[in-house]
Amino acid sequence: MSPRIDPERIARRIEALSGFTEPGRPWTRTAFSPLYADARQWLQAEMRSLGLSTEIDAGGNLIGTLPGQRNELGALGLGSHIDTVPDGGRFDGIAGVIAALEVAQAIKDAGLHLQHPLAIFDFLAEEPNRFGLSCVGSRAIAGELSAEMLQVASPEGETLAEGIARMGGDPRELDRPLLSPAHMRAFMELHIEQGIRLESEQDDVGIVTGIVGISRAEITFSGRADHSGTTPMNRRQDALVAAAQFVAAVEERAGKSGEDGHVATVGKMQVFPNAANAVPGRVVLTLEVRALGMDTVNAFFAWVESMVAKLEAERGVRGSIVPLSSGAPVAMDESLRLRLAKAAADAGLAMQEMPSGGGHDTAFMARICPVGMIFIPCREGRSHCPEEWSSTDQIARGARTLLNAVLALDGEAGGSAAGRGEA
Ligand SMILES: [Zn+2]
Repeated sequence: MSPRIDPERIARRIEALSGFTEPGRPWTRTAFSPLYADARQWLQAEMRSLGLSTEIDAGGNLIGTLPGQRNELGALGLGSHIDTVPDGGRFDGIAGVIAALEVAQAIKDAGLHLQHPLAIFDFLAEEPNRFGLSCVGSRAIAGELSAEMLQVASPEGETLAEGIARMGGDPRELDRPLLSPAHMRAFMELHIEQGIRLESEQDDVGIVTGIVGISRAEITFSGRADHSGTTPMNRRQDALVAAAQFVAAVEERAGKSGEDGHVATVGKMQVFPNAANAVPGRVVLTLEVRALGMDTVNAFFAWVESMVAKLEAERGVRGSIVPLSSGAPVAMDESLRLRLAKAAADAGLAMQEMPSGGGHDTAFMARICPVGMIFIPCREGRSHCPEEWSSTDQIARGARTLLNAVLALDGEAGGSAAGRGEA
């Protein structure tokens, strides 16, 4: 019997998880909350009912494992996260965990015994939470939760280390990676796209090429605050006009690049003194640049320096650029990309390659093992809101892609499941 993805089962589990929400505020299940703990207990029980062994690792991740015939091969990992942002949706992260569970059940029900262990991950706290840090569990796996991060306190005074311990983890072990390449053959995540490309181009699956790197800088334009009624137009050092020119130039420059995944945004701005009758004397803004290549990011910031210098000369203001953060892009493993594309083609699905403009747990799993990621469509690209929606069939098509990829990867190790992918 070849393994079958059951859309009804997917729908039932999505529905069940959506019940764990703050009443009157759908859908709110923030990490570290009692509701989140309840939802994880439900998930753990589902895993156990399929015969998966479960554990909470030191980073507070819930991991369910179907044993393999040859554990020395390392696990094939699947998964995502079940926490939500406040007033969030029922699919962001959740679809990836439920699809992973469905793959495990399809394999189990078909009586297949994989060569590799199959590990289903529910990463702790992927979304920003009361500790102000995202991807907590996957960072822990990669050994990238610093001692400083672990001591960050919530508004209630609990430290992140205490929060992780409360979720069943062990912060004393977080000074090193929790998994090594020997543990993991590969990791693959299904996630809703959170954009409109797949829906508008009527594709079933997006094969993710890479997760963009995100760099941010604070840029200040200083001019001179003056009386708006008495300072002639030609004698002003208006910081806001310089900033406005800068914002427009950023949009034009990023828009012209044509590079997939490359965007730039000024999303935050403060004006001083911010009064109707004052020429703005100072403007502080935040520039964020995302791209799949660090070269692109570096080239953009080199252009920013020249642009700021040009505005200084033209408008009689002073500019300063202070880097805030810089996260490197993460490329998906080339052979897993091809494997996932073939898996989707074998399932008869329409697909395209695309970058991920948002961050995901997969970016941290990439420190441990080869990683791949697929997107499924979501209605109108809406996400992090109650309107977030993917249909059961859309999730099932993604799950079929994952299933085919798992069977093919296992087949490479001489697995009995070789060539038995669901078409
Ligand atoms: Zn997510």
